[in-house]
Amino acid sequence: ASGSSLFAGDDNIRVAARIRPMSAKEVAADPRQAIKQFGPRSVQCLTEGSEHRFTFDRVFSPFDTQEAVYEQIGAPIVDAVMEGINGAIFAYGQTGSGKTFSMEGGEDDERGIIPRLLESLFARFRNPQIEFDVRCSCVEIYNETVFDLITYGKNNVEIWEDKDRGLTLMGATEVPIVSCAAALALVREAVKNRHTYETAMNATSSRSHCVFVLTVAKRVRSETATTFCQLYLADLAGSERVAKTQVSGDRLGEAKYINKSLLALGKVISALSDPGRDETAAGARAGRGAAGGAGSAAGHIPYRDSKLTRLLQNSLGGNSRTVLLIALSPSAWNASESLGTLRFGDMSS
Ligand code: ADP
Ligand code: MG
Repeated sequence: ASGSSLFAGDDNIRVAARIRPMSAKEVAADPRQAIKQFGPRSVQCLTEGSEHRFTFDRVFSPFDTQEAVYEQIGAPIVDAVMEGINGAIFAYGQTGSGKTFSMEGGEDDERGIIPRLLESLFARFRNPQIEFDVRCSCVEIYNETVFDLITYGKNNVEIWEDKDRGLTLMGATEVPIVSCAAALALVREAVKNRHTYETAMNATSSRSHCVFVLTVAKRVRSETATTFCQLYLADLAGSERVAKTQVSGDRLGEAKYINKSLLALGKVISALSDPGRDETAAGARAGRGAAGGAGSAAGHIPYRDSKLTRLLQNSLGGNSRTVLLIALSPSAWNASESLGTLRFGDMSS
């Protein structure tokens, strides 16, 4: 309802920031708050000696409930899917910033975006005039390899573009889903397999991207044509810099890939937000305003630089409504990572 205005205008990517409450540990270590919300769209970040302000499409404070967050950014995505437009929500931020809490959440009132979104979708699929066929896949991208999260042990998943159906995960299990309960059971199974892979590889979920894909085929019963659209829900790998996590040995290899995927995502978003810019300068806006101008098709978007951007390609540049949710710890101790997250979100908005 109140969230439906989120996609007013024609830009397809919206950025929302969510500040989680301080944890007891953070309060004990340093009670100062570096991140503060100002009104529904503004955030302030205080780092040593300087103040930064950012404006996004929505800003959620530590007091905003799971329900409020869903109403603002999840509900418009359900509307998109019902209209046949692809939808996506990506959670980005350092490890511990609240990505999984926002996407999966806990029980009852703590339910996150994914369960709420599935409930709402399946309620709206109950329409006697329209036939819906829903299929679901869930994968984890780790070290540029795509792992199937529905059938444990499948890790030869390839990403293919299908002319009608959108992107297809070849080799990944795709399960037909008839109810919200079945969808939720599948999500739970996927989360369990994610942990099994982690244990087997001696890794942590903070180093991998978890992507849940729903493909919806829709046919009005009185007609023959079927239309397809897709929903992508991604809990991205931790965006923290390598130095802070003190990686070594194999972990260094992982970190390199994490950076590669998230860096690629940043480059794609940056290229999309300014098609006339010089694509070689990821962060710098030096090329802006040069030849080409707005809408220039010449702007190359580097989707193929990583598995993640390849998979999310249609959500980023296609006929889609996409929300980038940037997750933030309010703590002064995390201020420099939070500033990095805010800058990533700023580039996207
Ligand atoms: P991430 O997935 O980004 O690593 P988590 O979602 O696991 O982070 O969050 C870290 C911790 O903070 C968890 O214990 C989680 O329950 C808690 N948390 C995160 N966001 C909130 C919130 N908005 N309200 C209450 N607790 C939160
Ligand atoms: Mg997490």
